[in-house]
Amino acid sequence: MTRQLTLPEFLRKMPKVELHYHLLGGVRMNTMLDLAKKYNEPLTEKDAKSYYRAFAHENEVMKGGIAALNFLYPLLRATEDYERVAYEILEDAKNTGVRYVEFFWNPNDTEIPYQEVTLALAKVFEQAEIDWNISAYLIPSINREKTPEEAVEMVTWMINFPHPRVLGIGIDYREDNAAIEKFWKAYRLAAQNNLRLTGHCSEFGLHWRNVETGLDLIGLERIDHGYTVVENAELMARCAKEAIPFTVVPSNTFFMKKWPNHSEWQINHPIRQMAKAGMIIIPATDDWHMHDTNGQKCYQSMIKDFGFDLDGVRQCILNGINAAWQPETTKAKWRQEWLTEFDTLRAQLIEEPQFDNAFHTPYQLNNH
Ligand SMILES: [Zn+2]
Repeated sequence: MTRQLTLPEFLRKMPKVELHYHLLGGVRMNTMLDLAKKYNEPLTEKDAKSYYRAFAHENEVMKGGIAALNFLYPLLRATEDYERVAYEILEDAKNTGVRYVEFFWNPNDTEIPYQEVTLALAKVFEQAEIDWNISAYLIPSINREKTPEEAVEMVTWMINFPHPRVLGIGIDYREDNAAIEKFWKAYRLAAQNNLRLTGHCSEFGLHWRNVETGLDLIGLERIDHGYTVVENAELMARCAKEAIPFTVVPSNTFFMKKWPNHSEWQINHPIRQMAKAGMIIIPATDDWHMHDTNGQKCYQSMIKDFGFDLDGVRQCILNGINAAWQPETTKAKWRQEWLTEFDTLRAQLIEEPQFDNAFHTPYQLNNH
């Protein structure tokens, strides 16, 4: 077999899941501009660029993912807008080797009813599965900057309109003064109706207690972010032992600001520490276009910034398959097919990534 693949090509082609992706964080900039034009909302190209990290200049403060969602939700006013966004996102995703996505979106923030958005997105998902062999599902997410009563209302919409593309609930937006326990009622209602549960906990450097509360009081099956778990060795060991999946985001802005020097990431960054402790981590992208990342760049960062080797990358892919909210038969098939494909592509690499031994520690494989 000829060795012809570069590392970026390999990382683009290798099959992978995406379990932490905010739907509107993947809106292309031209689409944002088109939608503003369609609805006569003032938006210059300079304004639009301020939401997209790819256009950031040094020392410039970007508006960020949450500001982008706050701008976009009121802008999407017809089901065809959601269809366009979903189509483009899945086109971008399949071009970087993503085979399965679970999207967060915020039903309390939309201009059109829950049922209509769900049907519009599901229609595009069905077609993408046929055309591109990519599967997409939905996780309606609580906007924790709104009230707990609105969260309960969101879950009620889900119960009244069950749909096979809708898997469970999540929670996102700013966590300060909105710890997950505030939304216990919505989560309990969701659990009672057999919906799966995940949640953003301990993001932005907030206390590890939010992870513990998420697990023990709310009953979360997965944690999104959860980085300050590294400040509690006992909790970290427990999460490793119980094989709790954590979706982690290499492009997370909080730690990029805290430790701008990449060499420090290989020592201090929580993603690195979580893996070393044997926790189940799944690299994810959060806000794809806003944060200038994608399925390929995410794994490039795992290697370049965090010193993971390809055995570690393979383990992360396996973690993602195991943590997907799909039937075991489907996941067994993916394990068989995708990991074989991974190994075949790996054999075609021109060269495996090289590491400075001072930093390189292989990902400890977890037996669970
Ligand atoms: Zn997120």
